[in-house]
Amino acid sequence: MPIVGRFAPSPSGRMHLGNVFTALLAWCSVRKVEGKMILRIEDLDPERCTQEYARVVREDLCWLGLDWDEEQTPQSGRTGIYERQFARLQEMDLVYPCYCSRNELHAASAPHTTDGRLIYSGVCRNLTPEQKAQQKKKPAWRIKVPEKVFSFQDGLQGEYGENLAAECGDFIVRRSDGVYAYQLAVVTDDGLGHVTQVVRGRDLLSSTPRQLYLYEKLGFSAPQFYHVPLLLAEDGRRLSKRDGDLDMGNLRERWSPEQLLGYLAALAGLLETAEPITARELAAIFSWERVFTGDIRLKANEKFL
Ligand code: GLU
Repeated sequence: MPIVGRFAPSPSGRMHLGNVFTALLAWCSVRKVEGKMILRIEDLDPERCTQEYARVVREDLCWLGLDWDEEQTPQSGRTGIYERQFARLQEMDLVYPCYCSRNELHAASAPHTTDGRLIYSGVCRNLTPEQKAQQKKKPAWRIKVPEKVFSFQDGLQGEYGENLAAECGDFIVRRSDGVYAYQLAVVTDDGLGHVTQVVRGRDLLSSTPRQLYLYEKLGFSAPQFYHVPLLLAEDGRRLSKRDGDLDMGNLRERWSPEQLLGYLAALAGLLETAEPITARELAAIFSWERVFTGDIRLKANEKFL
């Protein structure tokens, strides 16, 4: 079966070095085996995402030589599609409205996972119809999770799994403002796009058991996952879109695409030294076996490249 991969950038700012690093590995992995690449703009959140950033993301990918074969409709235009999947979960009696306020959710007694995520207690799971009728505000919608471990073999990070009831709790699939949650949208889009390979940052590793559960319930087959290292600033912080020094606007003023790709390839473990290289040349020598698994801290003199 041909490999189908995807870029899934969120246009909430200009891509930074870490986003480009992930996109490069995703692209090389697909192009190495002459698979198909999909671009999907993840602009679910209307408050954070803009059309202009989406345009610039496409333009930056082209500048790097990272092409795609098909563009899925951006997430902002796919609400009807998510609605249908949500309705299927409702028919299976898997979702329920949650009226908890932020303060209630973050109460001091609320249990947390080791990486700081809140484990939802399930208080709204058993509200009676009368209790629901008394609520004044619009609810978020949560999916009931089972007492079951969802695990998978990550192509880079090895085996990872979570018991959803014990380690996560019922999670949100639709926000109280009506916006569908990332977990539901990403599974729907990758499922309907027949994506077979997902390459993304290691920060999303712990989302994957929740997504596996949704894959199962919605009847899609799950892709192979590769969670790639994050690039960290010299003080150990994750790069963010606010880190303007490392965004593509800045990088493009100082570097050619080949220099930047060579630098990223050396950081990834694909080249011994940061020699300029084209994306096509890099795809030809690409191998997951050579890619580092742990997060990569940039050195002080690399901060401004
Ligand atoms: N849109 C997410 C991001 O830009 C990626 C989500 C995913 O790859 O599943 O970080």
